[in-house]
Amino acid sequence: MTVQLSQVLVLCDEWLQPARFKDYCPNGLQVAGSDQISRVVTGVTANVELIKAAIEYKAQAIIVHHGYFWRGDDPCVKGILRNRLALLLEQNINLIGYHLPLDAQPEFGNNQQLANLLNINVTGSMDPTETPGLGLTGSLSVAMQGEQFAQLLNDKLNRMPLHVPGAAKLIKRIAWCTGAAQDYIDRAAELGVDAYLTGEVSERTVHLAREYGLHFYAAGHHATERYGVQALGERLATQLGIEAHFIDIDNPV
Ligand SMILES: [Zn+2]
Repeated sequence: MTVQLSQVLVLCDEWLQPARFKDYCPNGLQVAGSDQISRVVTGVTANVELIKAAIEYKAQAIIVHHGYFWRGDDPCVKGILRNRLALLLEQNINLIGYHLPLDAQPEFGNNQQLANLLNINVTGSMDPTETPGLGLTGSLSVAMQGEQFAQLLNDKLNRMPLHVPGAAKLIKRIAWCTGAAQDYIDRAAELGVDAYLTGEVSERTVHLAREYGLHFYAAGHHATERYGVQALGERLATQLGIEAHFIDIDNPV
């Protein structure tokens, strides 16, 4: 099945509502290529390895969570950005990126997907004043020890998390936000949850977790953000009859 690029973009925008977000990068079509789409590759980050894999797969579009043109980036087209753009333009491949909208999408966004994977019942947003909310709160179906939860993360994400043990009590209530949301730990502490889970960690986070008595988990920026874009590709494939293929370019961070 071959569809128009605009059909893909309209559906993505309908599902992800990018206009509702103040983001650090453009959401939607970032680099224009072919008008006709039959194969899409999805991935976490638009690095050169992903582009080469998409070329091999003969995709006309790559959809990612981390695209280009971030606020504060050098706007000049040189170096690594030039190499990546050159490949995309030469091969007439579209680059489509969705950042915060893909974290927050309530049915299949990164945060909801993590809840599904870990069997967490979502109870709300980490910050109800923030619309749309990014981080979520919920409860584990079975309360568990801090080490047990670390093991569960390892089993589900194929990567052992960094765990800063909190108070000795079992984990039942939890807050989480995928990616580099370690500084949301203060908000998690305010909420009185037993554990806070995100992708990345900073030096300061360890001390904060200890002093709050909160279990803290850094389960990987990449590892926690594999699932939203994958689900987006699957939905596009089902809805439009095109092919979508998720390519995991491993990243230990
Ligand atoms: Zn991210």
